[in-house]
Amino acid sequence: MAAEIIDGKALAADLRGKVADHVARLKAEHDLVPGLAVVLVGEDPASQVYVRSKGKMTLEVGMASFEHRLGADTEEGELLSLIARLNTDPKVHGILVQLPLPDHINEELVINAIDPSKDVDGFHILNVGLLGTGQKSMVPCTPLGCLMMLRQYHGSLSGLDAVVIGRSNIVGKPMAQLLLGDSCTVTIAHSRTRDLPGIVRRADIVVAAVGRPEMVTGDWIKPGATVIDVGINRVDAPERGEGKTRLVGDCEFDSCAAVAGAITPVPGGVGPMTIACLLANTVTACCRAHGIDEPDGLTA
Ligand code: NAD
Repeated sequence: MAAEIIDGKALAADLRGKVADHVARLKAEHDLVPGLAVVLVGEDPASQVYVRSKGKMTLEVGMASFEHRLGADTEEGELLSLIARLNTDPKVHGILVQLPLPDHINEELVINAIDPSKDVDGFHILNVGLLGTGQKSMVPCTPLGCLMMLRQYHGSLSGLDAVVIGRSNIVGKPMAQLLLGDSCTVTIAHSRTRDLPGIVRRADIVVAAVGRPEMVTGDWIKPGATVIDVGINRVDAPERGEGKTRLVGDCEFDSCAAVAGAITPVPGGVGPMTIACLLANTVTACCRAHGIDEPDGLTA
């Protein structure tokens, strides 16, 4: 059986369209423009690419984009002062500090300095607690995008067996909370898990968020299961020419697609949904800040 490809690019374009419609409505009916501030510290090339593309897409849906680029030697206090200013700036509804931060800056301190109602990454400890207790929160973008893709494909997830591989605060743990919220039976696997292939083989839904190129192979997958591949790994691709590279996921695409019922590709799966969910979270934050009804379909 050849798996259905879950087209993250197309779903993300749909979601950005919904966001743009709502941004237009906020402008017309409330004279409001949702604003997203992105803070980048240092010159990490991958982070620069992400920040540029976030800024471009923010403007494309009609929102305001505020970029703050700080040098790699920026003092922690200077970054905290900037966050304090953004917290009180009425034009800013969402604040994202691009991770990773340089080693001399305490990441947890910085994340928890963001006003939780503007924490569009959903990493503030208050949002983590709200999500964990099933209350309204800002939901981390990558797991939110995965959940939306799963709901789109399955409709109800109730009663399905889900295995999340990876227990990071950014992807694995919030993903497991969201799946639990949708009444899946959830297993979180990680680097110390025994018999990982055996555990994955039981799952109706596999979410791989490990960061190991093509670790999950088709013989781990239950026939008909849905595979969500979060991993983004750059590997050498000598077949494309000397020094060339390509992106692969945590799942070996061809062998998994031969067994799965549905699978997300890398690139073109989870990645585009992550940025679309960031924009959706900014609209949600703007609506909440102004006591305006939230549009359906933009959050969990
Ligand atoms: P992380 O390094 O913080 O966490 C990786 C997790 O994998 C850990 O919990 C670890 O226990 C587990 N792990 C490591 N080796 C393992 C093994 N052999 N078997 C089972 N589990 C193992 O990474 P992260 O931030 O959660 O990101 C994971 C991957 O997802 C990376 O490739 C990252 O680039 C990608 N990512 C993609 C997006 C996106 O938008 N598509 C967003 C965030 C992260």
